[in-house]
Amino acid sequence: MNIVMFGPPAAGKGTQAKMLVAKHSLLQFSTGDMLREARVSGTELGRKVSGIMDRGELVSDEIVISLIDEQISLNQDSHGFIFDGFPRTIAQAEALDALMRLYDSKIDLVLSLKVDDSSLINRITKRFTEEGRADDNPESFKVRLNAYNTQTASLLPYYSSQGKLYEVDGMLSINEVSMLITEALNNKSKGLI
Ligand code: AMP
Repeated sequence: MNIVMFGPPAAGKGTQAKMLVAKHSLLQFSTGDMLREARVSGTELGRKVSGIMDRGELVSDEIVISLIDEQISLNQDSHGFIFDGFPRTIAQAEALDALMRLYDSKIDLVLSLKVDDSSLINRITKRFTEEGRADDNPESFKVRLNAYNTQTASLLPYYSSQGKLYEVDGMLSINEVSMLITEALNNKSKGLI
């Protein structure tokens, strides 16, 4: 099964994706992690995206689509993929659909984690203090949230019109959210959603 983990920054996408990987032997593709690794390794790509990421803006569609394209083609023997933080624009979603079609596959389910803005700000403030991630500072976070609202949230109707969108209450505890996601996956495999 191929899943998109969807939601604003700090909604818990990465945490839930990692839990799914452990339970269902899926491969997690986080474009944010890939870009951070490129920065740590000091590659040309890392240098190119560092300022954009620190400001909280989106990097170009071309860059993230080519990262995902490479991973999909390298991992055709996988049980399925979880896309975490990708797609973030309509162009990325269309490219992902086209890539999946190329491999006779498709996105099966889009899990949308719903968390209200004030809780997101509280979570980010805590994460900034604990982990010191540059783009968790209040200014960059404002830009990231704005990017989500103006460029990424428009994917909700895109996936809803394909009948793939499943909303999950991301305000609940990590374990409760995980239980709701397990229920969604079970229902999906029984053809109930
Ligand atoms: P994340 O860890 O998913 O919050 O991503 C951290 C940062 O990486 C984002 O604020 C963007 O600058 C960049 N990024 C990650 N994924 C994407 C994407 N799919 N499209 C554009 N930029 C991305």
